[in-house]
Amino acid sequence: MLSAHPIPILSDNYAWLLRCGETGATAIVDPAEEAPIIAAIEAAGGRLDEIWITHHHGDHIAAVEPVAARYGARIIGAKADAHRLPKLDLAVVEGDNVTLGAATALVVDTPGHTRGHIAYHFAADHVLLCGDTLFSLGCGRLLEGTAEEMFHSLAKFAKLSPETLVCCGHEYTESNAKFALHVDPDNQALVAFAAGVTQQRLAGLSTIPSRLGDEMACNPFLRAPDVASLARLREAKNKF
Ligand code: ZN
Ligand code: FE
Repeated sequence: MLSAHPIPILSDNYAWLLRCGETGATAIVDPAEEAPIIAAIEAAGGRLDEIWITHHHGDHIAAVEPVAARYGARIIGAKADAHRLPKLDLAVVEGDNVTLGAATALVVDTPGHTRGHIAYHFAADHVLLCGDTLFSLGCGRLLEGTAEEMFHSLAKFAKLSPETLVCCGHEYTESNAKFALHVDPDNQALVAFAAGVTQQRLAGLSTIPSRLGDEMACNPFLRAPDVASLARLREAKNKF
């Protein structure tokens, strides 16, 4: 059994602490700020086996090297981006299985936000580490990739189990909700979900992880029927 806990870092990022309940093996996904990540590791027992990277942006990798050195952790990331990531101990490609103790994740190529972006999907545990590809009620900006690439990346997620936990890289949900309601005001599932988000934020709570089933019902980017629709949505959101 795998657990996934968000660690709030920087202004609105989440790193993730993954732990295999059977073996105690522990990984951090996207460590970009040293102090809160070390505090979270120590609070969980002081063990770190691995660091997994979704993409090369500084707000996802800035603390990889010091945290890896402190715990002797193995660094895993995309082979395609090895030239612009911290030195990898394991360079992975789409379809690779990576294990954390008794838990197994599949590496999924998810270009769009960046060219070499990858996600990690623990199918048996219903946990998806999706970095800056899918956010709750939103998706990543197309900084390097095309709308077509993002559409196909999101389509891979849309096929996963609705109970999948969406463990993304940012707390953007409240502002994403405003745009989602602007483009899809009659979606009653979205209206209800957005009201819940407002309550969570008022209470100072994280809205992440969300459930993929809720994203399928509410997230306009995941619901976009074709590439052109997704491209229009993404452009409109950039100007919103
Ligand atoms: Zn990013
Ligand atoms: Fe980011």
